[in-house]
Amino acid sequence: MNRTAPMSSFRLTCSWSGRVRYEVQSDPFHAVKCHCRDCQMISGSGYLPLLWYKAGQIKIDDSKLKYFARTSDGETTVRHGFCEACSSPVLVKPTFDEMDVVFLVATTLDNPSIFTPRAEIWVSSAQHWGCLDESIEQVSTQRTGKLAR
Ligand SMILES: [Zn+2]
Ligand SMILES: [Zn+2]
Repeated sequence: MNRTAPMSSFRLTCSWSGRVRYEVQSDPFHAVKCHCRDCQMISGSGYLPLLWYKAGQIKIDDSKLKYFARTSDGETTVRHGFCEACSSPVLVKPTFDEMDVVFLVATTLDNPSIFTPRAEIWVSSAQHWGCLDESIEQVSTQRTGKLAR
């Protein structure tokens, strides 16, 4: 495992079903493990590993995704995109920020070991079995509306 490999130039297919394809040609502006309750439900585990991109950085065949929209915290709507064939979670599209961002689920990378998380977010709802890495930044919820530019 090389934790310093650049997280860029992906040209990938959902490794389970081969249906969803996406292409990324630049590094994400952030990489987090999200421990919010939604990510726990979607992952069926303690967190989702997420690569944060501006929407224009990702080329994806949206027609192969099915979406589930959920309003969390009573105000923000988040769209969760799943592979239509195998139902693997592929991306998350939040709408809480004026910037158009897409959170790509790192599990779908052909080589998920290049994912290098920089922060643990929503640690306030983390499970005690959620494997927090205390050597990286801990954020109790999420800096809503203040994403890095
Ligand atoms: Zn699939
Ligand atoms: Zn989350």
